[in-house]
Amino acid sequence: MAYKLGEVMISREKISGRIKELAAEITKDYNQDNSVVLVGILTGAAVFLTDLIREMPEDMDVRMDFMSVASYGDGTESSGVVRIYHDLKQSIEGKNVIVVEDIVDSGLTLSHLLDILKARNPKSLKVCVLLDKYERRKTEVKVDYCGFKIPDKFVVGYGLDYASKWRHLKDIKSVVDE
Ligand code: 5GP
Repeated sequence: MAYKLGEVMISREKISGRIKELAAEITKDYNQDNSVVLVGILTGAAVFLTDLIREMPEDMDVRMDFMSVASYGDGTESSGVVRIYHDLKQSIEGKNVIVVEDIVDSGLTLSHLLDILKARNPKSLKVCVLLDKYERRKTEVKVDYCGFKIPDKFVVGYGLDYASKWRHLKDIKSVVDE
């Protein structure tokens, strides 16, 4: 089946406004230690994370690191068994860590990833997602910072792809059958 771009689900203006709010919330929550490591999950969260990090204050100790993971599954559903392709460059032991993800769907990938990171003894571990497809959750994952809750529709743009395409779109759009 071929797909084409559908309607704008979330505009670039809404995205940038919400990212400013998320950065302000995070800054407030971590003002005691004034330090945080943002762990972006490649590739989808790269666009979101690089915009988010630039809204954080200059005098805060903000670090950025990335992980690349893939969950085994049948193509459309993830199994939640995560394989690490690229690991963090820095130790997170004793650090305040926020996992930054593009979208949480079944929650299986994130939940397995959190188990892996917890075992590395961070001081704190939280989750920030741009999009939450809450209706599709199969396992409970605590989302501490959420950009937008969205219905069960496949979306692309702003880092999210379909078959490696459309990550570069400024808006988040749905995809429809051609
Ligand atoms: P989960 O383990 O929560 O089911 O899988 C989350 C992953 O599924 C996301 O990181 C993303 O790669 C992919 N995913 C889930 N829903 C969508 C969607 O609507 N659009 C895109 N592009 N990817 C999605």
